[in-house]
Amino acid sequence: MIIPLLKGLATTLRMVFTKPITLQYPEEKRPVYPRFRGHPELVVDDDGERRCVACTLCMVVCPSNAIKQITPAEGEYHEKYPVEFVVDLTRCIFCGFCQEACPKAAIKLNNLYELAQYEKQMLIYDIKRLTQQQSRLRDGDWL
Ligand code: SF4
Ligand code: SF4
Repeated sequence: MIIPLLKGLATTLRMVFTKPITLQYPEEKRPVYPRFRGHPELVVDDDGERRCVACTLCMVVCPSNAIKQITPAEGEYHEKYPVEFVVDLTRCIFCGFCQEACPKAAIKLNNLYELAQYEKQMLIYDIKRLTQQQSRLRDGDWL
């Protein structure tokens, strides 16, 4: 009777001094692997401008028709840029084809994994929500 009790106590004491394998989510986030694919984001250069030239290659290559709209505009020096860019994350399969196809490295999959929403509409990202606010992209590219 006493021996199982002592064994249980010893196990408890051992675990007290063992490094925990669980995380206090959501306060603590689990780091993702370098090849993890989050959702697509539009890359912003150091000058604060989006790299995208609205060529629509990513839209053409997207296998699940998740990139819904790219509306181009022309600047003073005939440079093209998007004024609207819509990605429906309910359709995105995080394949990374858009990143692979982009000639300007202007769209990249980030490392975010908390995408759940109560409203489906919240998963349709416009250009503002797609634009990389700070560098949340992985350190190295996987393609
Ligand atoms: S990751 Fe794949 S499915 Fe998602 S927008 Fe890019 S090409 Fe489309
Ligand atoms: S993200 Fe890249 S491929 Fe897509 S429209 Fe912009 S420049 Fe073209």
